[in-house]
Amino acid sequence: MTSTPIASKIIAKATRVSIDPAHIEYTSDRQRNAVEALINEFTVHPQMLQDIKANFMEGMKKGLKKDGETMAMVTSYVMGRLDGSEVGSYLALDVGGTNLRVVAVHLTGGGEITTRQTKYRIDEKLKVGEAKALFDFMAVCVDSFLDEHQIVVRGDTQFELGFTFSFPVLQTSINRGTLISWTKGFNASGMVGKDPVAYLQDAFNRRHIPVRVAALVNDTVGTLLAHAYNHPDTCMGVILGTGCNGAYVEKIENIAKWKGDATAKEMIINMEFGAFDKERAILPLTMFDNKMDRKSVNPNKQILEKMIAGMYLGEITRNVLLNLIDRRLLFEGCISPDLNQMWTFETAYMSTIEADGSATLHATRKILESTLNFSSTTMNDRQIVKLIVELVGKRAARLSAAAIAGVLEHTGSWKEKAAIGIDGSLFEYYPSFDTDIMDGLEEVFGPTVRQNVSIGLAQDGSGVGAALCALLAAKHSG
Ligand code: ADP
Ligand code: MG
Repeated sequence: MTSTPIASKIIAKATRVSIDPAHIEYTSDRQRNAVEALINEFTVHPQMLQDIKANFMEGMKKGLKKDGETMAMVTSYVMGRLDGSEVGSYLALDVGGTNLRVVAVHLTGGGEITTRQTKYRIDEKLKVGEAKALFDFMAVCVDSFLDEHQIVVRGDTQFELGFTFSFPVLQTSINRGTLISWTKGFNASGMVGKDPVAYLQDAFNRRHIPVRVAALVNDTVGTLLAHAYNHPDTCMGVILGTGCNGAYVEKIENIAKWKGDATAKEMIINMEFGAFDKERAILPLTMFDNKMDRKSVNPNKQILEKMIAGMYLGEITRNVLLNLIDRRLLFEGCISPDLNQMWTFETAYMSTIEADGSATLHATRKILESTLNFSSTTMNDRQIVKLIVELVGKRAARLSAAAIAGVLEHTGSWKEKAAIGIDGSLFEYYPSFDTDIMDGLEEVFGPTVRQNVSIGLAQDGSGVGAALCALLAAKHSG
């Protein structure tokens, strides 16, 4: 049994060791010009950050007015607030993109939470196969989790489960909704327009697994709730993992499209902000982004997500490297067969390369030569690879800052004490992602924002948050 305090932690991760382009010994003027052109293309200048933020706020307003807008601004049906005194035991099933997690959450009150969890890998075939098979797999994971941890129910009672299903869903109640579209490499057949809760509940029932799906939760909403359990001033939950998205607390009077309970004062909105700028009106897309987008399972969709999230950053970097190689400006034009394959340059490699401060760029060399099988690399190759990684990573963090700034300005939360909980491996492990975001926020709001707004890792937020949501659902119906 592990005890998982959700409190924002000091993130013990490496910081970026920047590379100064002026210190690169270029092999030719052509190489220097190519690198300078990349710096130009990938840099999000302060004015651009402001413009994106302004455009993002317009997108938020549109989505609050009516359904079907680029940013869906989904009403989550989560209206209650938490104060940390809640007690009980709940299950959570977290389907985020890369892994599937089952979590047993025990709330002991006083902001204390203990969890037991098991991760399961989702096979690529399941992601794009029959929807029924995918949901059967989820039910089987929950069943084996209960077995493994010897968790049993007494009599006819059922476990209440919070289902974190982190795809765009048009929610119709706390445990009902319809899938708007698949994202993050999923494309299981026959699901769009259907209710994922019904599919999951059906899979449980067919196997006589005593579980009731009490709440359908987006991971952003879960993250917000989990962070709020011990940071009551939490105003936003953000995911920076396989995909990216955010949720925030909105006043009911600002949600023009809301036709439900008029007595509620506020509601958590799942923004689905990864879809921002489908129109390609404002984001500084490069040919490397476009190449990746075309080859993705959802071309032309989730444009902001594809510039920010963990699933895509490595692939964008790979595209830039290939372009330089093909122009004989890197690795003397020699390619490694590994790098020729799509998705082989993992975003996790970028974290290692960003943190590499060794004189010979030893860690970078290891990735290129041992992992990606380049026969040899020069210092110049490694410096340029490092610089490109930094360009792609920093752009992602600054675009995240633009989105977060849009929310903070829309709600006015930057003027008061406010906490933002962020979950996801990209945020957790990528060097200096947090400081890049803060720097971006300071550019927009000035130094006050540093005193007022805290950004913290809400580790396991999406799992624990789902359990908290199941609890809120029970509170409401009880
Ligand atoms: P999910 O989004 O499925 O809940 P995670 O939050 O673990 O899962 O995010 C997985 C994503 O994080 C993957 O796309 C992966 O590329 C990225 N990732 C994993 N490890 C690292 C790392 N060390 N540095 C940067 N990104 C990482
Ligand atoms: Mg997750």
